[in-house]
Amino acid sequence: MKKISFSDLENKVCVITGGGGVIGSSIGLGLASVGVKTVILDLFQESADKTAAMIEKESGTTSIGVVANVLDKESLLKAKEIINSKLGNIDILINGAGGNSPKATTKNEFITPDNKNEFEGSFFNLDIGGFEQVFSLNFQGTLLPTMVFAKDMVDREEGAILNISSMNAYHPLTKIPAYSAAKSSINNFTEWLAVHFAKVNIRVNAIAPGFFLTNQNRFLLIDESTDELTARGEKIINNTPMGKFGEPEDLQGAVLYLLSDISKFVTGTVLAIDGGFNAYSGV
Ligand code: NAD
Repeated sequence: MKKISFSDLENKVCVITGGGGVIGSSIGLGLASVGVKTVILDLFQESADKTAAMIEKESGTTSIGVVANVLDKESLLKAKEIINSKLGNIDILINGAGGNSPKATTKNEFITPDNKNEFEGSFFNLDIGGFEQVFSLNFQGTLLPTMVFAKDMVDREEGAILNISSMNAYHPLTKIPAYSAAKSSINNFTEWLAVHFAKVNIRVNAIAPGFFLTNQNRFLLIDESTDELTARGEKIINNTPMGKFGEPEDLQGAVLYLLSDISKFVTGTVLAIDGGFNAYSGV
């Protein structure tokens, strides 16, 4: 009988964009634990190098930090040259760079008869530059690295890509229209890519994490002055049947599953990792 394991992943080379972030570094650690050589690609050299060093120390598996901007194709091409010369061909890509910004966030959840004349922080006064920045980071920031790094996979007719979606893709959360629209586009693009690459044996899937406390959402979920949950944070916990935020390590198993040959007939799916948030109607 064939034993099921993640051994097919050993010595594969995986690029993780936004790898210096909370979720990217935890996913990197999970992959390194089964012998995947990770490339921590981030906008900031320091966080890329620090994360790569942490992964290598914890796991004993090679990890390198590379700086690049997921919105700048030239910088991604330069990064690819460095990766190819240091580690060889790229087998796996995780499009992890993404996030929201206060500039693309409305002050109120609803327009009401009482606040309808407020302009500051309203939908009507959203900073269009901020909106574009969030949309591009999440959508083009997935498109461009895929254009650059999937080339090695196409050449060898083998590979796997994982995008990072969000609960917002299914039902938009209040206040964050740019992020919600962009993550919704990730689900659609995941399906498009899965079809486009299917004949050259490259699978494309996504994970949709529920709520994890990280740098990009802390300002919405935790009150800075008291360190207590905000009303929004409380609402999220009340609407998560498991009653808690996720821990970044909770994503590792699902990522290994989607990237390994264990799921070799799975492509074009988005897997929710959310403590039941998406399944719950609130009643
Ligand atoms: P994070 O802010 O901790 O990490 C994001 C990383 O991306 C940072 O290291 C940042 O430097 C890097 N980055 C930003 N812009 C970049 C660019 N232009 N080029 C290269 N790197 C860039 O955020 P996180 O919570 O770890 O988020 C990772 C992914 O998970 C994002 O796509 C996010 O939207 C998604 N996500 C997060 C949650 C959550 O609850 N935290 C939920 C669902 C989805």
